[in-house]
Amino acid sequence: MRIVLLGPPGAGKGTQAKRVVDAYKLPHLSTGDMLRAAALEETCIGKKLQQTMADGKLVSDQLVIAAVIERIRQPDAKNGFVLDGFPRTISQAVTFDDLLYTDRIHLDHVIELRANEDVLLNRIMNRARETTEAGQAVRVDDNPEALKVRLDAYSEQSAPLIDYYRVRTILRSIDGLQPADDVTSEIFKMIGRG
Ligand code: AMP
Repeated sequence: MRIVLLGPPGAGKGTQAKRVVDAYKLPHLSTGDMLRAAALEETCIGKKLQQTMADGKLVSDQLVIAAVIERIRQPDAKNGFVLDGFPRTISQAVTFDDLLYTDRIHLDHVIELRANEDVLLNRIMNRARETTEAGQAVRVDDNPEALKVRLDAYSEQSAPLIDYYRVRTILRSIDGLQPADDVTSEIFKMIGRG
């Protein structure tokens, strides 16, 4: 089963993706995680990535697409995956469609987690506070300035994907602000478990 999760930062894509991959034994393909790993490298690209991500801006389509193509073609993703954080631009979606066509595979579900901006701002700030209290490192982009840039990037560059997938009749939307367990049950119902 091949699933794409869409939604603004803080809508719960990461949390829900983890639950789906655990239940279905699928690989979790998070472009944010892939890029954070690449940003740790002490190379010119690594440093540039660090800065772009800390600012809350989107990384270039070219780089992200290359990372996704490489990952999706690994053996563990052959029978399915949960994509979290990709595609994030129409250009990524178009290239991704070409890849799916070339590899003769198709997406089964594109699920949008809807959430409103003010609530997201609070959610992410709470996430940062709880992480600090637990003695763990806070994401460098979980601060009000970077979050504003991330939300703007979502509404300008990623929100058009909702229509892109809606006209392809593959999109389903869920209220991402419900308790996380309710969101999970809705997802499981949609994908045939529940
Ligand atoms: P996330 O963990 O999904 O919130 O992603 C964290 C950061 O990684 C984003 O703010 C972007 O800088 C970068 N990123 C993740 N996925 C993409 C993508 N598909 N396209 C461009 N940048 C991305």
